[in-house]
Amino acid sequence: MGDVTPKGSEEVEARLARVRCFLLDMDGTLYLGRRLLPGARRFLQVLRRQGKSFLILTNNSSQDSAAYAEKLARLGLPVVPDQILTSGEATALYLRRHHPGARLFVVGTPALEAIFTAYGFTLTDEDPDLVVVGFDTTLTYAKLWKLCDFVRAGLPYIATHPDLNCPTETGYMPDIGAIIAFVRASTGREPDRIIGKPNPEMVEAVLVRTGLLPADLCMVGDRLYTDIALGSRAGILTVLVLTGEARLEDLPHTPHRPDLVLPDLGALADLLEPGEQRKPPSSRWEDRKAVFGRTNLQDSDP
Ligand SMILES: [Mg+2]
Repeated sequence: MGDVTPKGSEEVEARLARVRCFLLDMDGTLYLGRRLLPGARRFLQVLRRQGKSFLILTNNSSQDSAAYAEKLARLGLPVVPDQILTSGEATALYLRRHHPGARLFVVGTPALEAIFTAYGFTLTDEDPDLVVVGFDTTLTYAKLWKLCDFVRAGLPYIATHPDLNCPTETGYMPDIGAIIAFVRASTGREPDRIIGKPNPEMVEAVLVRTGLLPADLCMVGDRLYTDIALGSRAGILTVLVLTGEARLEDLPHTPHRPDLVLPDLGALADLLEPGEQRKPPSSRWEDRKAVFGRTNLQDSDP
């Protein structure tokens, strides 16, 4: 049986206090649909007061960070493009480190192409060094055909992220995973490397971009198999918020164990900036200890 005493929570809180940059998921963590989630704005205010930074991570490589900053501003969150890292930019950071100067065939939107150009890569559809696939909402059959030719020829094949579908307000859009499946059906090959959540290359991109160390980072999100899996694989602190997909009942069944489970970003703000609501025996604090205990119980699972 794992440690279920508050000691475990104190250790996590000590690590939390040392975090310098919070990596935040968007949908289900900061907002849901067109609604800001409880405490999201206050959490960012607390970070600003404490001189801590944040980086919003999104797997969606069809848009650039400016488009997301605009969306967040419309929802009432003052965020600048530099505070957002898309899987597209993470891929550019990865390639600049591992394949500097490579000539790329990019299957992506004009926004994704512009990211690679801004990072100094030459884009070409003739004799590239490697191929990059993104969530291409401007996809054509001609692009798919060329992509399959290059993949079949054995060129290094990189995908920005793995998602099969992109949730929308009315349902789902087929995402990059469906394009990867098309290429697999035609060529029998899988991507050599997939960058976005839950793959640790996403955190590697953060480390390169910020110059921080893993101990300086904490991943906060609502999905166990993407957000929490990313943090675990990258060896950083993880916080699950229960404002999106994951439920407390999911915890006994997941291999992706968060270090901390909280109702929402407001509760994380309370932990960082203890106020009235923090003093025991506040019922909210007692609830939180119970959640800590539940999380630590998972440590004894196989
Ligand atoms: Mg989410």
